[in-house]
Amino acid sequence: MKLNISTIEDNQSVELTFNENLEPFEEVGLENKINLKANLIVSKNSDKVWIKGNLDATTKTCCHVCAEDFDLKLESDFKLLLMTNEKNAVDDSVDVKIISADTKEIDLSKEVRDELITSLPYVFKCNRKDCKVLQVSEKNNETDARWEKLKGLFPKKEN
Ligand SMILES: [Zn+2]
Repeated sequence: MKLNISTIEDNQSVELTFNENLEPFEEVGLENKINLKANLIVSKNSDKVWIKGNLDATTKTCCHVCAEDFDLKLESDFKLLLMTNEKNAVDDSVDVKIISADTKEIDLSKEVRDELITSLPYVFKCNRKDCKVLQVSEKNNETDARWEKLKGLFPKKEN
């Protein structure tokens, strides 16, 4: 996600919309591409560039409860201040990225990715009416071979 800041004039604000497919966030269990829509307002003021807006992302993943695939939606605010000198920081509530004075284009992929990962819910749950944990059929008394191996790990209860 690249932002061209060289065309923005001093004391000017521009509204930008990005539609991109981000690489999967495999480290958090999202194995499909992430469809991102970002609406950003970029304002330049001498050596500072403010970026504010919102991120709207969708990706296909597996529901943690019923194991069906569904579209996981992620929404997050986005705020970033680009500066050429850290000493001029005015506000601790916003993330700051230091850039060199002659920077023309800036890649926001990492910041956007971090922001979306922070907004991830603990549990990915679909909205299907019949979303529930699958019950193991009681008729099936055969033990799964994978569980059999674990049996020896726990001491047997003696009554
Ligand atoms: Zn579900």
